[in-house]
Order: sequence, then C-alpha cells, then structure tokens
Amino acid sequence: MSEKRDYYEVLGVNQNATSSEIKSRYRKLALKYHPDKNPGNKPAEEKFKEAAEAYAVLQDAEKRQIYDQYGHQGLEGSGFSGFDDIFSSFGDIFEDFFGLGSGRRSRSRARRGADLRYDLVLEFMEAAFGADKTIELEKMEKCPDCDGDGCEPGTRPAQCQQCGGTGQASRSQGFFTVRTTCPSCRGRGQTIPNPCSNCRGAGQVIVNKKVSVKIPGGVDTGSRLRLTAEGESGAAGGPPGDLYVFIQVKPHKIFTRNDTEVIIRVQLSFIQAALGDTITVPTLEGEETLKIPKGTQYGDTFRLRRMGIPSLRGYGRGDQIIQAEIQTPTKITKKQESLLRQFSDIESERLKSKLKKIFKGKPSKAAM
Ligand SMILES: [Zn+2]
Ligand SMILES: [Zn+2]
Repeated sequence: MSEKRDYYEVLGVNQNATSSEIKSRYRKLALKYHPDKNPGNKPAEEKFKEAAEAYAVLQDAEKRQIYDQYGHQGLEGSGFSGFDDIFSSFGDIFEDFFGLGSGRRSRSRARRGADLRYDLVLEFMEAAFGADKTIELEKMEKCPDCDGDGCEPGTRPAQCQQCGGTGQASRSQGFFTVRTTCPSCRGRGQTIPNPCSNCRGAGQVIVNKKVSVKIPGGVDTGSRLRLTAEGESGAAGGPPGDLYVFIQVKPHKIFTRNDTEVIIRVQLSFIQAALGDTITVPTLEGEETLKIPKGTQYGDTFRLRRMGIPSLRGYGRGDQIIQAEIQTPTKITKKQESLLRQFSDIESERLKSKLKKIFKGKPSKAAM
C-alpha cells in the first residue's frame, strides 16, 4: 500500500483553510471525479475517495485537530478508519451540499397500520378465571368496495403522467441528477382518475368492528393483551397494526387481591378468639371450613392453600389469606356481665401472684 497523502494536499488548501474554503474545494473535486461522470475510470474513483476521506476529516473540528497534531496515525488510533463504502458514507455530505430531501429514502408508500388501544373493565371473577369478551371499536380498515386501491369498482389506476410511473421526479443540479418523490402521485407512480365513492380514493374507511378477546385467567389491573394484526390496516399494502387491550379489574365486595393471593377478613367474637372455633369462610368457588385455634390474636392470618387466583403464566395458583378481626361485644346481659366479672376476678388474682413471684426474683414459667 502506498503512503497516504496529506489531507490538505489532497484538497489543495493550506493548513489554515477555513471550513467554507475546505467545503468549496471539496465540492469542486467531488464534481470532477464523481463516478457518475467517470464511469469505469479507476484513477478517478481513487481520487474521489481520497478527496472524500480528506474532506470528512477536515470538516470535523475534532478529527481535524487530531490530524493536525498526530497525522494519519493519530486518526487510526482514535478509531477513525477511513471508508469501506464511499456511497453509504457520503449520503450526508451530498445532502448537505445539494439539499436533497427525503425522496430518495422512501420509495414505497406502504406503511404499517396504527396500533390501537382499548381499555377493558372486567369483573373480579372474570379476571380470576378468564372470560370470553367481545369488544367493539372504531378503526381504519381496507375499503371493502375497492379492496384498498381507491378506484371506483370497474375502473383502474392510471400511470402518473408527471413521472411516467416511477414515483420520482428528477432535476439536474450541476453534473448530478437529483431525485425526489413525485409531487403529483406522492411516489406511488399511479393516479386515480375515478376515486372510489365509498372511501373517496383513500382505500381505507372507518368501520365499527367487533373483536373477540379471550381473557386468560389471572389477569390483573395493568395487564396488557396484544392481539396481533387487529389494529388499523396498513396503507398501500402495508401490514396492519396490533390491538392492545388494557385490563382494569373492578373491586369485589368481599375479596381483595394481591397478585395471585386473595385476601378476606373475618370477624371473630373475643370468645371464639380465646377458646378457638371452626368457622365457614367464603372462597372464590364457594365455602370452606377453617379451624380457628385457641388464643387467636387480632390480625393473625390463616391460609387456604391454592384457593387464590390462578397464575397467568399457566401453572399453580395463589393462596387465600384469612385475616382475623376480633369484636368486643357492645351489649351483654346481666348474667354474661356477672360471668365476665368472675373471669376478671380470677384474672387479677392470677396477675397478683405472678407479680409477687417476679418481685421475689423467682419468675416462673408456670405462672403463665
Ligand atoms: Zn374504496
Ligand atoms: Zn408521479
């Protein structure tokens, strides 16, 4: 490989050249050696590449500084490694020079349809065990009359007169031919002499559509279901968008939910709490009996295994949690009151003797 030439020498400018001098000098060289003007001319192509590389460095303040200080080797060390494909590398430069629009980027008008969102409110039980729902939404669909081509049935699109069907308009600028999207047909290459009366030539119409949605058991507020291709239809043959169903779950009057756990509160009398009992509790699928042990405290929880919400991932099921709340009676009979007083007397005797033992310095577990 031959030694690289000095970038300033390549462009024919001195080391103090301003960026506009560099740009104007490069433009002249690029026009002179451009491969379109010199088909099959290898030396011209080499000169074109060389000038392009020099320009890319010298018009970039940071790269120019590295080059001024350390030369070609400095740039290699900084990760700047020349050009593999001159045409992909120079898109920016030519757009910069000639003000090329977006025309050359998108030749096809095919666009993917928009994604849609639908907010669906579910009952607690529907969310827990799943449901089949039908939702109704407004969306853009391919026009059924013209099948999306925008032409009145029985007529056909015509070739665009302005661009001859290429979808592109050309204009000359210096030695270059600059292509932009044809303004008459907007790049389609076709015009519609007799627009479809149903969609006025748009190829799409707004329709009310019913969509069936299978809700899997275990969804919760914030769950999002994606229905592929149920969004709006794409333009000019583009694929349809997706439909996203956002779930919101209504509260239940007995059950609350924490992910796959179902939580309920039960009211126990202080007698049940003290002596223990067997009670019946509501579950998602009916009733279950639950043993309350002696000495249950306010806030104690009990668990019914796998009686909660099925996992959305398809395996397992959460538990049902029962939280104990203890009620103090507000009305009692004379007889109940006298019994409670007896209970209280026994309790204070017990406490007194317990305290005595503590102050004697001999606490005993038996006092409990
Ligand atoms: Zn139509
Ligand atoms: Zn056209």
